[in-house]
Amino acid sequence: MRKPIIVGNWKMNMLRADAAAFFEAVEPVLTGEERADYGIGAPFTALDTCTAHAKHLIVAAENCNEKDSGAFTGEVSVPMLAETGITYCIIGHSERRQYYAETSAACARKAKRLFAAGITPILCVGETEEEYVAGKTVDVLKEELEGSLEGLTADEAARIVIAYEPIWAIGTGRSADQNTAQECCRTVRGIVRDLFGEETAAAVRIQYGGSVKPENIAMYMACEDIDGALIGGASLKADSFKAIIDAVK
Ligand code: PGA
Repeated sequence: MRKPIIVGNWKMNMLRADAAAFFEAVEPVLTGEERADYGIGAPFTALDTCTAHAKHLIVAAENCNEKDSGAFTGEVSVPMLAETGITYCIIGHSERRQYYAETSAACARKAKRLFAAGITPILCVGETEEEYVAGKTVDVLKEELEGSLEGLTADEAARIVIAYEPIWAIGTGRSADQNTAQECCRTVRGIVRDLFGEETAAAVRIQYGGSVKPENIAMYMACEDIDGALIGGASLKADSFKAIIDAVK
């Protein structure tokens, strides 16, 4: 019913030659008939290289500006991204929320703009370690989702991809255990249900992210409410990404 979606997030890594070599190594193992969609989130400078090499892999940007043009030095707009041929865009990653003050309200405006351009947002949400320890995970998810999905239609909310990424698990090697990941993704789906209804909740794809690797991806994919993964470190090497594809097959 829900087709899983597994997306690498290269962050601020990979020059164009690295990106080309990665796509040349990974594309041949995909046929397009897999049970999951696979993709890569790449830095702006490598997007053209990625889309030029992509056959089955989805190409995603890692950020966008909500305005179409104007005096916003250093920013990249959705029409600019659309020119590269990408079809997905990560928004609200915890690193952007933390270091660049990206708010949930901005995520909602970006999501609207992306949908209007035919680009699917991958919206990241998740709690800090402090919030996790204090038992505030559900409150944080509620607040981030209510803010970030504000103004979307039920149809848009059904098509968005939501990545639940506990911040304490990102880049730490301390991946969430199966039960925690499943329960939090179930909570995300429940919040979507409260906001948009059962049909939307049943359709929306929810990823787990945070130290996902070839050795643990199958465990997450076995969970009822987990429809894929957002993968940082383990997406930087073609061999490791291929091992993830293998483990999901
Ligand atoms: P990680 O990063 O897989 O390296 O933990 C995940 C992410 O930031 O999306």
